[in-house]
Amino acid sequence: MEPTDPVTVLFGVGPQIAARLEKLSIQTLADLLEYWPRRYEDWTNPRPIASLRLHDVACLQARVRWIKTERSPRRRLPITKALLEDDSGEMLAIWFNQPYLAQTLRVGKAYYWRGKVGYDQTAALKQLINPLFEQTAQIYAVYPETAGLSSKQLRYFVRLALPVSLSLIDPIPKDVAKQETLIERVQAFRTLHQPIDLTSLGKAQERFAFEELFLFFLQLHQLRHALAIEHSPPLALGTKELQAFTASLPFTLTQGQRTVAWQIIQDLKKNRPMNRVIQGDVGSGKTVVAAFAAYVAVKAGYQVAWLAPTELLAEQHLRTITSLFAPFGITVGLATRSHKAVASAIPSLMIGTHALLNLIDDLPRLALLIVDEQHRFGVEQRAALRHSRPLDGQKSAPHFLSMTATPIPRTLALTLFGDLHLSVIPDRPVGRQPIVTRVVSPEKRAAAYQFIHREVMRGRQVFVVCPVIEELESGLTLFAELEKRSVLKTYHHLRTEIFPDLRLGLIHGRLKPKDKQATMAAFVSHQLDIVVATAVIEVGIDVPNATVMVIESADRFGLAQLHQLRGRVGRGNHQSYCLLFSQTWNETTARRLKELERTADGFELAEIDLRLRGPGQFMGTAQSGFPEFKLANLMDFPLMQRARAAAERVAEKPLSVELQSLIDTKVDLNHLE
Ligand code: ADP
Ligand code: MG
Repeated sequence: MEPTDPVTVLFGVGPQIAARLEKLSIQTLADLLEYWPRRYEDWTNPRPIASLRLHDVACLQARVRWIKTERSPRRRLPITKALLEDDSGEMLAIWFNQPYLAQTLRVGKAYYWRGKVGYDQTAALKQLINPLFEQTAQIYAVYPETAGLSSKQLRYFVRLALPVSLSLIDPIPKDVAKQETLIERVQAFRTLHQPIDLTSLGKAQERFAFEELFLFFLQLHQLRHALAIEHSPPLALGTKELQAFTASLPFTLTQGQRTVAWQIIQDLKKNRPMNRVIQGDVGSGKTVVAAFAAYVAVKAGYQVAWLAPTELLAEQHLRTITSLFAPFGITVGLATRSHKAVASAIPSLMIGTHALLNLIDDLPRLALLIVDEQHRFGVEQRAALRHSRPLDGQKSAPHFLSMTATPIPRTLALTLFGDLHLSVIPDRPVGRQPIVTRVVSPEKRAAAYQFIHREVMRGRQVFVVCPVIEELESGLTLFAELEKRSVLKTYHHLRTEIFPDLRLGLIHGRLKPKDKQATMAAFVSHQLDIVVATAVIEVGIDVPNATVMVIESADRFGLAQLHQLRGRVGRGNHQSYCLLFSQTWNETTARRLKELERTADGFELAEIDLRLRGPGQFMGTAQSGFPEFKLANLMDFPLMQRARAAAERVAEKPLSVELQSLIDTKVDLNHLE
């Protein structure tokens, strides 16, 4: 077996399983080995049945006394029940739709079990709902799963593929590995997928985290070097022309906006590519600052491409920028999947989604690229974008400006990016009232609905956001599944039972872009009172008349993300509100969500998130603004510094062909290049 072999060489992987693996982007044996566990379950400390409490997710060891399958009377669903016993007591186990278990599990035999504890009224016994079971107690790797592919199966396939780890290239040069006392790569693979104990697991994680960081810093180093020698057209305007823009605005720029605009103007004057990130809280007014940059470029006689992450946002920008630029006779074009631009009539400023990338060659005077809210690109797309091309008789690369609402703690930014040009807008436009935030306990829900109704009667509009639910993880109990509120359910419930007299719209990721836009347009023009949406509305949507942001299952979002969602309201003159609902109500959840009531400081919330939930959660969204490391922990400054120092040392000499190709294929520097 070779690392590049397709997964179908493994025993038990047929076309069907291969297709499911492909859904997880696993095609080769190497992909399988590099499919990192998301978390681990420690089955090595089973608890006595007598000590279990309702709603615990517990691990226990118990014998099967009997097991049988029946059909539920109404839905004919096979229900398998078993009685489990240990020395402390007995309890039931129940599985839905897994009739084969009655054949698999042997009566009299002891197994390890893991599941959520419920209660069977009729039998007056505690019961495990859809528990998982194993013959031996170990620390089990739990992987991100997909329908029809459980962690258990993934563990099995990974085990079969492990031998090929011998033929994988180690990106860490021998002397570095030795100096950093990293464990052997082959051993690290085995430990990561099949840990024996938590200490060695830590060493394996460190090994791969170091690799990730090392490659990242190597690429960053190369990129800096490449940028430092590149040429860009200097874009400069006279004071009069600059003032004409600020004078035309319907408002005065804040101090923060002016400072950042000034920094950008200085960058654009140079004949080296600008590489700047504007960081500002939601509503701080980043768009107009970027528009200022676009104005400079267009007025100087060049073209600008402005990329937005969604069609909704591209359309919104088109409206905003068109009106900002109207006094100057500058036309703005749009390129999205549903709105194709005509190549023969491309204006100086193009706004668009990914579809705009196909038009890059039709922008011969492209001198500035603006990327809103961490629009992500693949390596090739990025190369195409930043590619130098002849302009004014010289090879030139466009200046680059990106925007993020994610607060990047300064120390972290410096460690990661060193001299990266980061501009912060610390203030918000004056006159904005703080958004009143309330964590709504389940018994207050009805009152909250009444409040929402009153707001709509006053002519205001409302967002209701639900977490996206793609697929059920097989590891989740039935309870958890019931607790999940899909956006569809919420929509129907609100429309038919709570607000039958109001006008509701629905937006979720699986709708056609055309339909999404139509609904959003209807909301913007106030033909809808309430829009129920998944987090697609998170980025940048600006509806000043919307005053209430309701978030369902708020506990499933990170604080930073909730803060961003909250920023969708409070954009006009009306007092605005953010209501946080949660299905799983407990002290910890409530306490975490209460932080949003307490502070409106995005930086602070991000730090709390980082502390409470770890960077994985914090960075889980596509807009984090950080490179997405799979294992590396951004709070681990010492490891980052070690990897950085090693990378810089190694980069002094030419890299091996293997190492270079790993950097080119594996590292995704995100927008921060
Ligand atoms: P974000 O930084 O979240 O992208 P936007 O650029 O969308 O924020 O701006 C939010 C709202 O604030 C917009 O309606 C914009 O017109 C308005 N705005 C921006 N700058 C100012 C300002 N200096 N004074 C008043 N309103 C402003
Ligand atoms: Mg924005």
